[in-house]
Amino acid sequence: MIKYLVLTGAGISAESGIRTFRDTGGLWEEYPVELVASPEGFAADPKFVWDFYIKRFKQSLEVEPNPGHIALKRLEDALGDKFHLITQNVDGIHRKAGSKRLLEMHGRLDQCYCISCHRQYNMNEIDLAGDVPICTACGSLLRPNIVWFGEVPYYLYEIEEMLKNCEVFMIVGTSGSVYPAAGFVMTAKLFGARTVAINLEKPDNLSFIDEFYQGRAGEILPSFVEKIIGDSNG
Ligand code: NAD
Ligand code: ZN
Repeated sequence: MIKYLVLTGAGISAESGIRTFRDTGGLWEEYPVELVASPEGFAADPKFVWDFYIKRFKQSLEVEPNPGHIALKRLEDALGDKFHLITQNVDGIHRKAGSKRLLEMHGRLDQCYCISCHRQYNMNEIDLAGDVPICTACGSLLRPNIVWFGEVPYYLYEIEEMLKNCEVFMIVGTSGSVYPAAGFVMTAKLFGARTVAINLEKPDNLSFIDEFYQGRAGEILPSFVEKIIGDSNG
């Protein structure tokens, strides 16, 4: 049984300097989401899509974990296999913070794969200054390892098992508007978990949340986590 299962979204990366999807300004305004986050957009203009992900990949190399990411790593250290983290973020900051019990359900900015033979590559093997990168094995186009709209997220089976077997399910920095992740609170609650949200604005799935803490993840999570650790030791 998992004691704490946590789902994070773009909001937890905001304090590291990465704009969320809905924020004004930043990359998402220059690159319309329907073009850069769909298989159709990639088919229509792979170069445009690659430009967007190369910029995001380079940005991800420069950003550092913030107190929110660090608090979740501390909770993992304290709870061991009674803790698990799921993220919708592709920026790799949880990994940088040292999180190991982690599922990156929407892929990773530092990887890409061949659209034909599915061979996987690390971004640092790719010439990012050239044209759209090509698979060295079969000559087809490579695409970023990102789950786009209309595609099936990774690890859904494992995630469902965890949602059914957790005491607390907590969502952090996620608007509750992108499915299937937005539906996880419903599953967890249906199977008896206590549901908690930490978010700057009210999430769209608030009706399934037992406890809502409104504010910034980097400000709320550190003391929240210390309290959990204190309670579980005492
Ligand atoms: P979202 O942009 O829809 O929602 C982010 C939520 O975070 C908002 O409700 C906002 O109020 C809240 N928020 C903003 N700053 C916060 C803070 N400091 N502390 C706590 N909450 C804060 O993002 P989403 O729910 O993750 O879904 C959008 C999709 O876009 C996802 O699929 C995600 O993969 C993708 N995305 C990823 C990144 C990334 O990897 N960093 C960035 C942008 C979007
Ligand atoms: Zn190939």
